[in-house]
Amino acid sequence: MIIDTHAHLYDTDFDSDRDLMINRAKKVGVSHIFMANIDAESLPLMLDVQNKYPNYCYSMLGLHPCHVKDDYNSQLEILYSYLNKHQFLAIGEIGLDFFHDITYQKEQYQALKIQAEWAFEQHLPINIHSRKANDETIKTLQDLPFSKELNGIFHCFSGTAQQAKTLLNMNFLIGIGGVVTFKNAGLVDVLKTVPLSQIVLETDAPFLAPAPFRGKRNESAYLTYVIEKLADIYQTTPLEIKNITTNTALKSFNLLP
Ligand SMILES: [Zn+2]
Repeated sequence: MIIDTHAHLYDTDFDSDRDLMINRAKKVGVSHIFMANIDAESLPLMLDVQNKYPNYCYSMLGLHPCHVKDDYNSQLEILYSYLNKHQFLAIGEIGLDFFHDITYQKEQYQALKIQAEWAFEQHLPINIHSRKANDETIKTLQDLPFSKELNGIFHCFSGTAQQAKTLLNMNFLIGIGGVVTFKNAGLVDVLKTVPLSQIVLETDAPFLAPAPFRGKRNESAYLTYVIEKLADIYQTTPLEIKNITTNTALKSFNLLP
């Protein structure tokens, strides 16, 4: 079994061949796909995909930091109204992104704190998006009065060994995807300091396709390339990578039977 812990399968990029793409994922052993939400607009699209592929595609709820704009309060209000109507696996993706745009920096902090509180209230893990803002994201989470109750995944981790260590101490897991296969990814050295039991697999599909598909549309079946690379880094077999990461993902998303 393989679990893709972060994908955007509702993206229009998959509208023409979503069925085929899911079949390809099943063929290589992907057993669950967790979908990260972007905003109030993507939410119904995501729930449609979940309904179409029950017990296979699971939904998270959240406002992505790049989508925090002037209307973020009304966005959050809409998202919150879904929390009691539907079952969500996690709150995500939420966080800080100072890479693309810092116009709404203050609002991004606000949205992160509010949504982290939802996770605390609902006993859900969080799926964190952090770009050029790792220290700020970590500090924001640590400063919350309920920070010790939080857990989750730092999606598409690209930080330092020290940041990884801090996150592991905070009960967070490291999400690893296609980036690990890129040439010169400093991530490989950082991973040598992270126990395999603290890692989960993810694609961020349709984005961040692994080598040899870099720059093309990504999909969950390509996780096999990430697994090969991790087996190489951890000096073990692909099977062991699958077993350990799947078990970790099921545990952290409360899906163990
Ligand atoms: Zn994402």
